[in-house]
Parts: sequence; C-alpha cells; structure tokens
Amino acid sequence: MIIAIDGPAAAGKGTLSQLLAERLDLAWLETGSLYRAVALRMLRDGSDLRDSRTAVKAVEHLDANDLNDPELRREDVGQAASRIAANPEVRAALVGFQRDFARQPPGRVRGAVLDGRDIGTIVCPDADYKIFITATPEARARRRFLELQEDGNQGDEQQVLATTLERDARDSERSTSPLRPADDAYLLDTTNLSIDAAFAALMAYISGSSDCILG
Ligand code: C5P
Repeated sequence: MIIAIDGPAAAGKGTLSQLLAERLDLAWLETGSLYRAVALRMLRDGSDLRDSRTAVKAVEHLDANDLNDPELRREDVGQAASRIAANPEVRAALVGFQRDFARQPPGRVRGAVLDGRDIGTIVCPDADYKIFITATPEARARRRFLELQEDGNQGDEQQVLATTLERDARDSERSTSPLRPADDAYLLDTTNLSIDAAFAALMAYISGSSDCILG
C-alpha cells in the first residue's frame, strides 16, 4: 500500500504522515529531508545553490546519516532546499530513490507513506491514496513560529509568515513538479483542526476508500 501526501510547509503533513505510518504499519519517508540534506551539504561547502553539477554530486553522496541531521530543520536550510528543488536535474536525481522506497520500503511493513510536494503527481502517481493537506499561510506560520520557539530559537512571526509565503510561491510557481494537488487527491484543510481531528479525517477517508485496509 502506498499513501502519497502533499502540501505546503507546516500544513501538518509530517505529523500526520508519521501517525498514519504508525497506525497502518507503514514505512515513512519525509521527502523534504532529501532536498534539505542536499541544501545543507551545499551550504556547508559554500557551494553556489544554482550550480546543477555540484547539486547532483551532493545527491549522489547522500547517505542515511545525512537525513537524520538535526540541522536539517533550520529555516535557512528550508529556504535553500526550495531553491535547489526548482532544479529539474536535482529532482530527476532524487526521484528514483523515492520510487524505490515506495515500492520496496525497508523493514517488515505493509507499505509506505511518503510526504512532500509532488508525491501524488510525479513520484507515485499510482499511489493507493493521495492526500493534499493545506492550511492558511497565517496558521502555518504561527505553527512554525511556535515550533521555533520551542526549539529555543528567537523568531519574529511576521518574518516567519514572509518566508512561508516566499517558499509557497517558489514551490508552486516552478516549472518542474510544482506543488499542486493530484486531480484525484483528498483535500484536507487543517487550519481549524487539531491533530487528532485531522488524523481522524484521514483515517475516515482511508477506511472509506477500502474496507480491507484497517482489518
Ligand atoms: O517538506 P519540507 O519543508 O522539508 O521541504 C523543503 C523543501 O523541499 C520544500 O520547500 C520544497 O521546495 C522541496 N521539496 C520538493 N518536493 C518534495 C519535498 C520537498 O520540492 N517532494
């Protein structure tokens, strides 16, 4: 079973994907971490983010440890990730790994849940379930701001809103694999939903789409 989850930053994709993975016994791949890991490597090396060759080399040198680096969550890494994610060569270099993960997830699991921006449209267009999770930019910026505060970072909510809008625009307007719902995606707006309510809505959607999945 493959579940594809897409949506803009801080809409709740990560938390909900993780909950679905636990409940349904699926492996989880947060595909944003791949783009972030490439960006972090390039930032550390002082590379030009527009340099395709260096970016593709960074993809080739990624290893599992890179995906667990706590620095991946930094705001500047998210922004840099969205810059390199507009590069078609970087996207092409990463798509195989994501498809392999979906087809043959690690461990003894029933399938995989992948979250990102283009999972239902490009990476796994034949996924069993496609979900697009969104929320207003203000709600997403607020969540991100609170997360940053929890991690002990100083931040300005208006500044977080500005960078959220900037990243949304870049992700939605790029010509290769722009952020958009698949035509057959289930849309969930989490602006006024608790995590529990959003998770319940997803479980209802999934169990309504198939009567064998929860049995
Ligand atoms: O999901 P996350 O915020 O970690 O993603 C960081 C950036 O990586 C996004 O802003 C987006 O530009 C890019 N990305 C992408 N396609 C994906 C996942 C992430 O373009 N499937």
